[in-house]
Amino acid sequence: MNIPQSSFPRVVIIGGGFGGIALAKKLSKKEVQVVLLDKHNYHNFQPLLYQVSTGGLEPDSIAYPIRKVLQGYPNFYFRLAQVKEVNTEAKLVKTNIGEIAYDYLVVATGSETNFFGNKALEAKGMAMKTIPQSLNLRSLILENFEQALLTDDLHERDALMNFVIVGGGPTGVELAGALAEIKKGILPKDYPDLDTRRAQINLVQAGDRLLPAMSEVASRKAEKFLEELGVNVWKNIRVTDYDGKRITTNTNTIFDAETLVWAAGVRAVSLKGLYGANYLSHGNRLRVNEFHQVEGFENIFAIGDVAQMTTEAFPHGHPMMAQPAMQQGRNLGDNLVRLVEGKSMKPFVYKDKGSMATVGRNKAVVDLPKFKFQGVFAWFVWMFVHLYFLIGFRNRVVVFINWVYNYVRFDREARLIIRPFKKQNKVEKDTLMRD
Ligand SMILES: Cc1cc2nc3c(=O)[nH]c(=O)nc-3n(C[C@H](O)[C@H](O)[C@H](O)COP(=O)(O)OP(=O)(O)OC[C@H]3O[C@@H](n4cnc5c(N)ncnc54)[C@H](O)[C@@H]3O)c2cc1C
Repeated sequence: MNIPQSSFPRVVIIGGGFGGIALAKKLSKKEVQVVLLDKHNYHNFQPLLYQVSTGGLEPDSIAYPIRKVLQGYPNFYFRLAQVKEVNTEAKLVKTNIGEIAYDYLVVATGSETNFFGNKALEAKGMAMKTIPQSLNLRSLILENFEQALLTDDLHERDALMNFVIVGGGPTGVELAGALAEIKKGILPKDYPDLDTRRAQINLVQAGDRLLPAMSEVASRKAEKFLEELGVNVWKNIRVTDYDGKRITTNTNTIFDAETLVWAAGVRAVSLKGLYGANYLSHGNRLRVNEFHQVEGFENIFAIGDVAQMTTEAFPHGHPMMAQPAMQQGRNLGDNLVRLVEGKSMKPFVYKDKGSMATVGRNKAVVDLPKFKFQGVFAWFVWMFVHLYFLIGFRNRVVVFINWVYNYVRFDREARLIIRPFKKQNKVEKDTLMRD
């Protein structure tokens, strides 16, 4: 990999997401050599992926070059590499561009969509975890409407305009809200010769309430907001099968729909060599102690979605969200410096800053540790928080301008089919992307 030997210990970080970047920043200017490996050369701000899928934002405005984040940091090396395996005996990371030895290894590989072994859903359903997947979804949504214009078969036309989103967490709720706004504000103008009132947005949730990780009041209010927007909310229904045309469930409800978006679960991305019953917990997460050390190792750490730290307050690990990943990255950064200096490490304590979801224009729900609120103010808070955490000044400016423009004009101008999406090639494309 052409990384020089250094007198400083080498910390290899796998993954430049929320956790990996926070950690690398903490280690800048410290007496360690940092090697960050990621299969993408950019950081992906996943909370705004749904806006890319629905034409509200260009993908460039939610991605940021990893090299730029860490520009000017001494002893820092980035390599664009897909990690294949970890050899814990030899302290080596094996990648598609070669091997690299480590003194300390940090796994920050995040999570991927979990179809819970249902091959049919994986083959025909759309995931929304990466920028290419969001662009695929954007293309498919728009192609469906173009196709709907061409058919005289009413059933086929309805199926093309029928959208089923599975999973009533923040991703499902936000996507359903955005699609409903497109139906109301954009489709009638873009497709005056199509009866777009027949378009249906269905949100299917296996449990008895939306946003189950948030308060009851947030769930109720989010559902009310969605219903006001015309979304059909289906609760206590589990999707079981999809052949690309018909969605079956564990009840009598079926949907004939050309688009199924799967937002019903994620699992940690674990690596060969660390993939074994010894290390893995619920959802493939690596079991770590309060210092982020992977069970059984002193020099291998895991942070973010991939790590499960069981505490009294979080018996199933911290939520798979950006805040825990960033806080863990910062804590581990301090601890690695302490380790190198021969000091003892400090245990991680998660500071829960709350959670939020937006449903649409002027509609959001916010649960803070001490306050809960919904509506217009919550929506402004949601926007401010997302702008604040977005990486890069340019991205913040671009997103802000887009939001103001979309708000004033009731528009989403990035509704472009840049690379057409063919459903039948999906399996092959997704496999390529994963590799
Ligand atoms: C649609 C969506 C909406 C979300 N909305 C919110 C929200 O509103 N608020 C919130 O707090 N959280 C939200 N989340 C969750 C949040 O994005 C994650 O919890 C967070 O990204 C986890 O950070 P991480 O550092 O663990 O992993 P990630 O940020 O996912 O980063 C993992 C990195 O590892 C890299 N990688 C993975 N495997 C390999 C490999 N083998 N080799 C090399 N590199 C590899 C990836 O390319 C990636 O850059 C959302 C997630 C999604 C998908």
